Amino acid sequence: MKVLVLNCGSSSIKFQLIEMENEEVLAKGQTEKIGSQEAIFTYKPKGKEKIVRTQAIVSHDVAIEVVLRALMDPYEGVLKSKTEIDGIGHRLVHGGEEFVDSVLIDEEVKKGVRRCIQFAPLHNPHNLRGVEACEQLLPGVPQVGVFDTAFHHTLPLQAYLYALPIKFYREHKIRRYGFHGTSHAYVARKAAEYVGKPVESLKIITCHLGNGASITAVDRGHSVETSMGFTPLEGLIMGTRCGDIDPALIPHIADLEKLTLAQVDALLNKKSGMLGLTEKTNDFREIEDAAAAGDQQSIWALEAFCHRLKKYIGAYSAVLGGLDILVFTAGIGEHSPLVRAATLKNMEYLGISVDEAKNQANAFDIGTGRVKVLVIPTNEELAIARDTLRILKERSS
Ligand code: AMP
Repeated sequence: MKVLVLNCGSSSIKFQLIEMENEEVLAKGQTEKIGSQEAIFTYKPKGKEKIVRTQAIVSHDVAIEVVLRALMDPYEGVLKSKTEIDGIGHRLVHGGEEFVDSVLIDEEVKKGVRRCIQFAPLHNPHNLRGVEACEQLLPGVPQVGVFDTAFHHTLPLQAYLYALPIKFYREHKIRRYGFHGTSHAYVARKAAEYVGKPVESLKIITCHLGNGASITAVDRGHSVETSMGFTPLEGLIMGTRCGDIDPALIPHIADLEKLTLAQVDALLNKKSGMLGLTEKTNDFREIEDAAAAGDQQSIWALEAFCHRLKKYIGAYSAVLGGLDILVFTAGIGEHSPLVRAATLKNMEYLGISVDEAKNQANAFDIGTGRVKVLVIPTNEELAIARDTLRILKERSS
């Protein structure tokens, strides 16, 4: 059984075709700069060279057509016919309170995803465009929606309510939702498998540290706290997002810099975080190199990033009432010994300590204390493909 996984953004589509028998990636790639005459199509079939082409790709429909053509190409392709695709799994960003699990996409589900556009105006419309393009190009192939928010539907009320007038929750569903759910769920399960215990018996904290970053407290398999909120802006310091700030700063900055609210929103999302602090880059490799060479702003930025993360780990261990496993994942979590070591310094009181040689080697299991400290590569595409298969099997049983 073959599943095509699609992650459709505003101007890019990432894809993977996975053979589910052995969970092997048959081909993967992405299309960037959709809507331009110079879109970049990258395609890597299994066992062959990567191809990068610049071509006109005017819409999401055309982008998916280009993907299908590559998959069926007589030389570079991995399929003889598109009928070999048994299901399509879509990453859908926001499911609001309506979607608590992955779903088979039909007209009702599409209406629900449309209702959630109010929560994710920059993401859900493009996710839906991908779904509709597949309806045209692969008619009859079942499509499954896998929501970034779904894993966090178990957040208890005390974790998801903002202390705003309650009507904003009651009438407008303004609350904390959380994101990166597919990744947090995937690595929590992997961690439980590794220690050989059921996830239902464990208290786990998962740190997804990529360009977007979030941390989740997983109590016996359920997300009970997570750092992103109504939008992915809340929580940890990120590549270009500020994370937690005093909300009173928003009118203050607007006043200081004579900015509109939309401009402040863009400043907090795109010009803040590590980029804002370093005034150079949001790439951790460059920041770490600059810090090693003595660049003071890069040193401050790294200290602030790790301090915020440490603060959340402490808070979440308190929420969980103990801790069995701490997981690091995503670009920084998987590859930055410096961030892990700086964050976990002086946490022996919690049972957290690290073997520095293993940490430097990005080993899988780097802890030496009571709490397991694991570095687990995330694989959101595989998690989406597995969920797609599960939903398709449920449908046919
Ligand atoms: P992601 O969003 O998961 O792709 O992660 C992107 C982030 O991971 C960027 O800030 C990269 O600089 C960072 N990253 C990737 N490799 C390394 C590395 N070897 N050391 C430090 N940071 C890294």
